[in-house]
Amino acid sequence: MAKPEGDRIPKTLEQRGFYVLDVHAHPNVKGGYPPAMKATLSARKYTQPNWVGKSGNRTLEDLYEEFPERDVMAKDAIAHGVKMQPVGWDATSSTGEKPVSNDFVYGLWKEFPDAFLGAWGSVDPWQGQKALEEAERALTELKLIGLKFQQCSQRFYVNDKKFYPLWDLCQQLGAPVQFHVGYTGLGSGGPGGDGFYSMSYCQPLHVDEVAADFPNLKIIALHAAEPWPEVINHVAMHKGNVMRETSGMWPKYFPHCMTYDMNRRLQDKFVFGSEWGYFDLGELLKQWEEIDLRPGIMEKVMYKNALNFLGERFEKCGLDLSPWKGLV
Ligand SMILES: [Zn+2]
Repeated sequence: MAKPEGDRIPKTLEQRGFYVLDVHAHPNVKGGYPPAMKATLSARKYTQPNWVGKSGNRTLEDLYEEFPERDVMAKDAIAHGVKMQPVGWDATSSTGEKPVSNDFVYGLWKEFPDAFLGAWGSVDPWQGQKALEEAERALTELKLIGLKFQQCSQRFYVNDKKFYPLWDLCQQLGAPVQFHVGYTGLGSGGPGGDGFYSMSYCQPLHVDEVAADFPNLKIIALHAAEPWPEVINHVAMHKGNVMRETSGMWPKYFPHCMTYDMNRRLQDKFVFGSEWGYFDLGELLKQWEEIDLRPGIMEKVMYKNALNFLGERFEKCGLDLSPWKGLV
């Protein structure tokens, strides 16, 4: 994948001293292309403005070429000492495109157990009973960790009561969910944002309501959450069952309130996500080394908080947590 600032190399696993636990990685590889590739091309131009691709013309073909065989993601994770959790993506009703299915992310996890620490599933929330059945299959038979939602592409509000049976099921099964919060890079800069509503479906107060109505449902609020980083900070502060996540933005651009509170009162409330497939992992980890964090905060964000918040579920899914033995 093209590197935005040259070939910068982050610390090795040995130098760093711990495995990074990445709760949010897109398996943008053969068989797992996202159900919105045009919008993904716009996202690439947004996250890496200097990227031109092999042809030099920043085309969709260039993008496909950057996501070739399925082992690319696993090799990248292993090379950087990262245990990744690939996420599914089902937006069939709203996009008409093929999902990144639960069986696909399950297959990746099983094929590359050294790279992947379980996986997160996805269902199309508009599919009603079928979505509930698929959710139950994914969470019990496949033992996927939880469900991931991308409301911009799925075009739904998480606080719409129509979708409450899904949260009810996850709560009953002890399975967490990931909700997209704030701006989406998908479609960014395209005509009409490639048809995406950039933020309507992804407001932090929607998450606050679901968290209140389902107090035993663990929720990961994804991304830097611009333009509402202060709001999602307060949601995470108020709701014991809400955790923030860090992906979707280069660390050098993190809003001030995000790193400020990460260093202080929200130090136990952030988990690391890479958004692999959209961000170069080496450059991302390098930038993390360059932000101003107090001693011990990096370890909390990079693995401790995730293990504390989701450890019980990880164990129920049969995940091997020995890489962090004695560290938490
Ligand atoms: Zn994502």
